[in-house]
Amino acid sequence: MTKAAVVNPPHPEKWNRICRFDHVARSGSLWYPIHSAYCTGLLEEHGHSVKLIDAIADGISLGQLLTCLSDYQPEMILVNYAIKSSENDISVARALKENLATRVYLVGAACSIDPYQLWNTSQVDGVIDGLYYYPALQIADSISKRKSPTGVVSWHKHLTTEQLDSFPYVTRIYAKHLNIRRYFQSPQLHPFVDMFTAQGMCYWGHCIFCYWQFTLNRDIPYVARSIENVIGEFQWVKTHLPYVKEVMLQDDTLPAQRVRETSKALIESGMNMTWSFYARPDKTMDYETLQLAKQAGARCMHVGYESADPRILSILRKGTTPEIMMQFTRNAQKVGLMIHGDFMIGMPYETEESARKTLEFAKELNVETIQFIIPHVYPETPLIGLLLSEGLLNDSGEVSYPDFTSEQIREFARKATLEYCFRWRYVRSMLPLVFELDELKSILPSILALIKNLRK
Ligand code: SF4
Repeated sequence: MTKAAVVNPPHPEKWNRICRFDHVARSGSLWYPIHSAYCTGLLEEHGHSVKLIDAIADGISLGQLLTCLSDYQPEMILVNYAIKSSENDISVARALKENLATRVYLVGAACSIDPYQLWNTSQVDGVIDGLYYYPALQIADSISKRKSPTGVVSWHKHLTTEQLDSFPYVTRIYAKHLNIRRYFQSPQLHPFVDMFTAQGMCYWGHCIFCYWQFTLNRDIPYVARSIENVIGEFQWVKTHLPYVKEVMLQDDTLPAQRVRETSKALIESGMNMTWSFYARPDKTMDYETLQLAKQAGARCMHVGYESADPRILSILRKGTTPEIMMQFTRNAQKVGLMIHGDFMIGMPYETEESARKTLEFAKELNVETIQFIIPHVYPETPLIGLLLSEGLLNDSGEVSYPDFTSEQIREFARKATLEYCFRWRYVRSMLPLVFELDELKSILPSILALIKNLRK
């Protein structure tokens, strides 16, 4: 048995590291360290002792982390490493290594960018490239046999349904190691829990900007858990975490077939649970599928619309069109499913005119919550290759075009949110939610973030 710690390291800001793009959320959102929790579950299931520490959620400083871990004396520590907090994360990893005389390994999507270079420069024991659950288990098993693995371990392999079903429920790991009430996402009812119903690269979308698909999930085919296992976890949440108001399915967009399968099983179970999921606004997500999801307790879909410009959608390989997105949205509104819509301002060849078209399209959709963000350009993605080859990244690594500069893009995205929200049609459509306390609590942080924006 090896004593292990899995750490989301401290940072001066409320840093979201284990999510699809690392950032500090204006709405105050804080993501679960979901991959770390799955890894913790696998290690525990195989007899290792694990401490999962989320220093961001717990507001723990480096000093406090060192004190806590020196009492526990782990033989290995997995430290989550992210690209935008790289300096901070490496200095925490080094401090742990120097002060605790233990083995330290870096994990996370950013480890797949250049793992050998990272290992050479970080001065830690190792770097795990890819999905780190099984490599972490191999390392823990080796340490218990008095071996001390070092270097880069890569894992971009097939997982089976049996393997996924054998993981302890991640929600049970949250309940054991984390404070569930500290995690918050503005479109979700609070408190909520996250879970995956599948792992691996989604085969229905190959968007050129999608960070996880080209790092953590690269070459790992999509494999789903059995539906019985998924429903079993819903049941576990209902029984053991009765205060949880919503289950968020974190799959990188739930394919329509999976939505139907999950919905039917939830209806048959008679559990009456509230859940949300990532959805692609494409033809497969038809009216019947959305209606079934609503009947099964689905509440909100996170939808990446990105742009209303067909040329940009095609460059992004989004696999849908504005007409299909509009039809999908009207169907969702008809059945009563809420939508959190994501739009990007500044994708390749964006002009002020195409950005305006996207904003007008968003207003026409009139979904419940939205965000307009500027592109997060990550290494390893085809997006960065395209922008570099065309000379469309400025010295700060931001997209910038001759007629639509990075400053103009940022300003447009900021004002777009205000223009979207301060419309009578939007305000009128949101009024009924104000009288539902849970919904109000979930949208209030977005409104406060908006007011903060207004004051800038
Ligand atoms: S559909 Fe979503 S998860 Fe899939 S590649 Fe596109 S952005 Fe990524």
